Amino acid sequence: NQEIQCQSIYFRYIESQYALQNINLSIPANHMTAFVGKSGAGKSTLIDLLMGLNQPERGQLLIDGVPLTSDNLVSLRQAISYVPQDPFLFNASIRENLKLVVPNATEAEIWEALEFSSAAEFVRKLADGLDTLIGDRGIKLSGGERQRIVLARAILRNPSILVLDEATSALDTENEANIQAALERLKGKMTIIVIAHRLSTIRNADQVVVLEDGQVIQQGGFTQLAEEK
Ligand code: ADP
Ligand code: ADP
Repeated sequence: NQEIQCQSIYFRYIESQYALQNINLSIPANHMTAFVGKSGAGKSTLIDLLMGLNQPERGQLLIDGVPLTSDNLVSLRQAISYVPQDPFLFNASIRENLKLVVPNATEAEIWEALEFSSAAEFVRKLADGLDTLIGDRGIKLSGGERQRIVLARAILRNPSILVLDEATSALDTENEANIQAALERLKGKMTIIVIAHRLSTIRNADQVVVLEDGQVIQQGGFTQLAEEK
């Protein structure tokens, strides 16, 4: 498992404004790092760089001390599972949704991933279990249920780095608790990077990085940051 380091990273979409400026930070392996900050602070932009979807204009990303290049980018991408805020599921059964990404997953592995993601309980209650069709031709899952299925799919890939964009919707407090429980179970097993919108997520994090206007304005443990405030 790999440590990710950002060294003096700059990035901009448009000439006149830096989306990220002089980002220096280290994301230790097998720990949980949370990025927090207002909308537009640069969280998604930074995540995209960490996942190799974009390249910094200046500065560099190091994976275990080795600069990220086109050569090791592929292995980084393979090591990362990403759970977006509004996850995508196919119009197929839950099992097919999981197997499309990891075709050789066994039933036992699928259920283990569902247990980790806090999805097992609700899937078990569905009339057709794993065979339940979801999407247009099937049942409608709540946003939180969809996120937990996608989290299970992400876990099934056995990533060394899990990136999760916490849902912004304040409506789904049940999902909030479920995702928290899932992250707690996964802690220490892989590197976890969370884009956090709520304080409760940060509480679990080993490291909190606060972004504002494309810069890191605070960095430390949750209690440390709380005391400084
Ligand atoms: P956050 O994820 O914290 O909400 P973003 O990383 O999305 O912040 O945005 C950082 C800054 O970059 C904002 O000023 C935003 O408007 C700008 N930005 C984000 N994506 C694009 C884009 N595709 N094109 C132009 N500007 C963008
Ligand atoms: P076997 O024990 O015969 O190898 P499995 O344990 O894989 O079979 O699955 C037997 C049935 O029980 C399957 O239909 C599966 O959906 C269900 N199942 C398996 N594991 C769990 C679990 N942890 N929770 C709920 N149902 C499960």
